[in-house]
Amino acid sequence: MLLKELKGLGPKRLQELERAGIDTPEALLWRFPTDYIDSTRDTPAAQAAPGRAACFCLTLQTAPTVHYLRGLSMVTAEAGDGTGRLRLVWFNQPWMKNQLKAGESALLYGRPETVKGRLTLNNPKLVKQRGIIAQYAPVGSVTGSLLSSLIDQLLPGIDSLISETLPESLISGERLCGIHEALREVHRPTGGEALARAKRRVAFENLLLYQLALRSLRGEDQRGPVIAQDGPLLSAFWRGTGFEPTGAQRRVLAAISGDLSGGRAMRRLVQGDVGSGKTAIALAAAALAARSGYQTALMVPTEILARQHLESAEKLLAPLGLRCGLLLGGMKSAQRREALEKIAGGEWDLVIGTQALLSDSVRYHRLALVITDEQHRFGVRQRKLLSDKSQPGQEAHVLVMSATPIPRTLALMLYGDLDISVVDELPPGRSPVKTRVVPESRRGDLYAFIRREAEEGHQAYLVCPLVSQSEAVEAENAQDMYERLRTGPLRGLSLGLTWGSQSAEEKERVMAAFARGELHVLVATTVIEVGVNVPRATVMVIENADRFGLSQLHQLRGRVGRGADESWCFLMGENNERLQTLCATSDGFAVAQKDLELRGPGDFLGTRQHGRLSPDGFGVEDLLLIEQTRETAAALYAQRDHRGEARTLVERALSKYERALELVALN
Ligand code: ADP
Ligand code: MG
Repeated sequence: MLLKELKGLGPKRLQELERAGIDTPEALLWRFPTDYIDSTRDTPAAQAAPGRAACFCLTLQTAPTVHYLRGLSMVTAEAGDGTGRLRLVWFNQPWMKNQLKAGESALLYGRPETVKGRLTLNNPKLVKQRGIIAQYAPVGSVTGSLLSSLIDQLLPGIDSLISETLPESLISGERLCGIHEALREVHRPTGGEALARAKRRVAFENLLLYQLALRSLRGEDQRGPVIAQDGPLLSAFWRGTGFEPTGAQRRVLAAISGDLSGGRAMRRLVQGDVGSGKTAIALAAAALAARSGYQTALMVPTEILARQHLESAEKLLAPLGLRCGLLLGGMKSAQRREALEKIAGGEWDLVIGTQALLSDSVRYHRLALVITDEQHRFGVRQRKLLSDKSQPGQEAHVLVMSATPIPRTLALMLYGDLDISVVDELPPGRSPVKTRVVPESRRGDLYAFIRREAEEGHQAYLVCPLVSQSEAVEAENAQDMYERLRTGPLRGLSLGLTWGSQSAEEKERVMAAFARGELHVLVATTVIEVGVNVPRATVMVIENADRFGLSQLHQLRGRVGRGADESWCFLMGENNERLQTLCATSDGFAVAQKDLELRGPGDFLGTRQHGRLSPDGFGVEDLLLIEQTRETAAALYAQRDHRGEARTLVERALSKYERALELVALN
């Protein structure tokens, strides 16, 4: 059967479907409903809850009336069911006036909202039959109801249109339903439980293919340089730092040292909340590499972070006899030439730098370990560029450090191609940043507080509201705020200003001045560099806090509380559950988990701009499936050479997800 044989599809609509990637009956059957209307049960009007969609059996108490307002129509009616009353409103559906009469009863499906103090159903659907009814999102001019009728035409022939996609052993082992049953049920549910089973089957398949694609992209484990384990060296390293490693630091370092000595190239992601001490872990790994005669490259996003890392590196590694140096984009040519010579000649054991480290002209001397810190734009391609600069026949070990906590299940999905360690413990003696929601009425007190802190030699960050997507508007706002504060409530203090579209040099210059303590207050858009350590900064103010994601707020808060002094984070806005989460916990993983629950995985991933596309239709209820499919994917991948079924699945996985995965960054 071909799509064009279906009733209701002319050439124009056919083309629109094709453009959306729906070019076969099979593809159409894999286009799932976006929602379901459940009219198997009514909800009494008295139990209508704002925001919770439900089906109500209501009697109209008034005849529907229509009003016109600037060309828009609005049909309204009053309805009730003996337990309570609801107001009905339809926008731009003037025909609804004639669909119902006073005294008539009808099944109405909608999401109650409180409008001017009254529970209202906006644009409720008139439900004609009892059941769970699939709703489809339109594709171009192909409406949802046309899609539904196309599906109706396809379903009777589904057995010959689609062949089972998963091996029989997997289906019975995981107690999944077969693909035909699953698709029939997803499109035309026969009941809540059957639908749940069908959804699980489909989610399982999608997640499995996604994980398989990740595995194949990771490729065969490559040979990596062998870096010897060295307990005494690590003991000497920790002695030099002047502190005891935390349990988490010890554990993560042991995993890394196991990887480095194992003969295969390491691919490890280290996640740790801000301040958990990831730098020390990275430097210890570099020390191990150097002791075995190898070089390490440490890549960071900004020059100022590179300089800070060099400072820590010299302090901790020089006593062990290691030599460290910098390679930055902005270097003068003589300086650069000298750096390149030291790198090529192996005079430096550790090279710290920005993207300049990737450039063609850099020749390394026995490069064995590549570390990236806070490098959110470090993609698969860059990783390859750097690790290929290792010895012939070998790939460098790769260690990716990230201060963006992600719940474990999601991390497994996003970074299934990496091994993951979590630094889940902060060094002792840290007091959490005190976090408070500040209403507008207390703004005066806030500025007085900043002034007092400044007088004590402390510094403050002021993050401007995110008012629009436009860089220009954002910059203007930051400038406005800077001027207002400088001439008003913060007069006499020294203020700096930085925003997103400023040149990199300008940003660095302002940030460096702040880091040196030359500015009391830094007014900024969200560009405040991650990872930069300004121990004297004790106050973080975030305007319009509700506009930011919880995890993002947590990241910003992590810019303070890096020294011994008590630190504060003030969230400007109305108190609510979201902001209270931040006041109540300083654990980045707990914050991320809450963020995930409040927004769902789709939004959580989308707004965080991880770049990795999540598998289709991925919802909270699928989180549990991630671990299961991960194991299954590993087993299937291992069998791909001697089991035809496994090979076919890997091929399907790649054709479905390869493009999406290639485009994306590693971190
Ligand atoms: P992050 O994980 O955010 O990169 P850093 O590596 O910058 O954290 O460490 C934050 C601070 O904690 C640094 O000043 C560092 O010297 C200190 N630190 C790291 N590990 C320990 C430890 N085990 N005990 C005490 N302080 C530590
Ligand atoms: Mg760091």
